[in-house]
Amino acid sequence: MNPELNQFIERYTELEREVQQLVTGLCNSLCSQCTQICCRADICEEAIQSPFLRLINKRTDLDSDAYGFLTPTGCGIDIGRPTVCYEYFCYDHLYHQLDETHEKVMKVLGALPAHATHNALGDAPLSEILQEEKLEQVDFQTLEKNLDECFQALEIIKTFYDEETLSDNADRVLDRITFSEEDI
Ligand code: SF4
Ligand code: SF4
Repeated sequence: MNPELNQFIERYTELEREVQQLVTGLCNSLCSQCTQICCRADICEEAIQSPFLRLINKRTDLDSDAYGFLTPTGCGIDIGRPTVCYEYFCYDHLYHQLDETHEKVMKVLGALPAHATHNALGDAPLSEILQEEKLEQVDFQTLEKNLDECFQALEIIKTFYDEETLSDNADRVLDRITFSEEDI
């Protein structure tokens, strides 16, 4: 594998694990009682249609045509989920945030995997490049810059959840993170 792609995947995987841990902590209590789960097989399919995500999740088929990767205990993909799976928060989650700052921080946290992969080839995100050979042609300089911005934002977000404070430069760092606003 191209060493730049390999290095990006290692750093992206580290980012996704941290985002997943924090998002799970924020969402688990509501999602585990939800009667209208928003996971859908067509969203799960993105995880096997994307050569980039496949390199991470190592999946080639859905576990079930009806439920995709959804299991009774949550998502069956350990790592390498579609970025929208982190970026989407239903109204209930937004409603239960303490204030606008908590809502903003949660939304930026969920947007980190999408931000890390945006503008990989022109304006196409890495996870939407469907021809494997094109992964070699992506703009690794932009992708590394995206990741640097994500890890800086992640540090601020972790401090916020630990100490309930935002540093002086927090808005500047958090506002760099873009939203894909993909509908689900
Ligand atoms: S994000 Fe909202 S709709 Fe989706 S499973 Fe969780 S509580 Fe249910
Ligand atoms: S979180 Fe997992 S089960 Fe839910 S839509 Fe995403 S890939 Fe599918």
